[in-house]
Amino acid sequence: MQTNFSSDQLADPHVAESERILRKCVHCGFCTATCPTYVTLGNELDSPRGRIYLIKDMLENGRPADKEIVTHIDRCLSCLACMTTCPSGVNYMHLVDHARAHIQETYRRPPLDRLTRAMLAFVLPHPRRFRAALKLAKLGKPFIGLFEKVPALRPLGAMLRLAPASIPTASPMASPGIHAGQGVKKGRVAILTGCAQSVLDPAINDTTISLLTRLGVEVVVPPGEGCCGALVHHMGREEAALASARQNVDAWTRAIDQGGLDAIIITASGCGTTVKDYGFMLRLDPAYAGKAARVSALAKDVTEYLAAFDMPEPVRKPGTVVAYHSACSMQHGQKIIRQPKELLAKAGFIVREPREGHLCCGSAGTYNILQSEISAKLRDRKVRNIEATGASIVATGNIGCITQIASAASMPVVHTIKLLDWAYGGPRPDGVQDESLIAAE
Ligand code: SF4
Ligand code: SF4
Repeated sequence: MQTNFSSDQLADPHVAESERILRKCVHCGFCTATCPTYVTLGNELDSPRGRIYLIKDMLENGRPADKEIVTHIDRCLSCLACMTTCPSGVNYMHLVDHARAHIQETYRRPPLDRLTRAMLAFVLPHPRRFRAALKLAKLGKPFIGLFEKVPALRPLGAMLRLAPASIPTASPMASPGIHAGQGVKKGRVAILTGCAQSVLDPAINDTTISLLTRLGVEVVVPPGEGCCGALVHHMGREEAALASARQNVDAWTRAIDQGGLDAIIITASGCGTTVKDYGFMLRLDPAYAGKAARVSALAKDVTEYLAAFDMPEPVRKPGTVVAYHSACSMQHGQKIIRQPKELLAKAGFIVREPREGHLCCGSAGTYNILQSEISAKLRDRKVRNIEATGASIVATGNIGCITQIASAASMPVVHTIKLLDWAYGGPRPDGVQDESLIAAE
């Protein structure tokens, strides 16, 4: 694609990077076929190619964002299916991240939208605040229908609908410390305990620590780590996202210096995509560029790490039919496709893949709150495809997808690590029926 930026504009490294990305696009439109918003809405401006044109026009003319571009960029899930499809290697992720930051800097949203976004950015990345908000949400549940009738209050209704009926107690295992591996030491890793996931389902990290330590891996929970920054990054709040990234880079750099790390284990693929991008996000900061690139290179989804690990034979082979839902951040963001399925199959599960596996479930960070109508359409389509597999459990590697799919599916939705842990001697995951267990030989 031809571009027309002035040399003054290209002196801004963010614009220069976007210009490099834009020039790779050849307008072929292959990406439209796999874009969930184009498939749902049928509007070219809600396709990757349409959004690329809108972003190009905004950046080239150096103008502030307007209502039209904000509407179409806000509808983008950042699912990155377009990057998987694109034959020209267009890095849509970095382009839309830049557009979102530009929108945040130059566009004044309506008051209620501003308030909702400010509240999400204030609450979600902080487990204590999030836990308190979920307790408050119980009081608001009777008013969901009322909120959903008023367009400006729909995000509040969606938030209340997604809030779980009960909140698990916080896990002591997620506190800073070291969990020693059992037997011969096979490795040393840090784990990102994260933010929202540690409140909604602390058992995911507990289970990961338990399985890794049983396999002989020492697991460090470094003091000072926190939210990965993805939630605010996707809202265009660059300073907040970079502050989170620097905080984590500092925490993990100390852990590397104090004993080395083979990997930084991440159990939410949405976070994994962002941590793997820290090297890019902090490339212009001389104090952090090198350290951030080292951290990104060490970041591994837990299934990516286990797939390269010399796994023993499972303790039991459950024989349960599992529908594997590959989160967008797993398959498109990190290109982790075969590892979770192969691990589940090796552990004795019968793995089925739903149709249209490339399409997002509509969770996408805060998308199911801020764009609840499109999100619900995508969720229902996803659940129909999952239920058509005939599986009795859904496995996936991202808390957002778990919450989203579980809100409409008729079967349990569990993190992949819980099924693996079960097969390797851990407890049966909550909600998974005993009848499905076929005893090992
Ligand atoms: S990130 Fe997803 S929703 Fe956004 S343009 Fe690409 S395919 Fe479409
Ligand atoms: S597939 Fe790639 S090159 Fe083709 S229009 Fe989409 S982004 Fe551009």
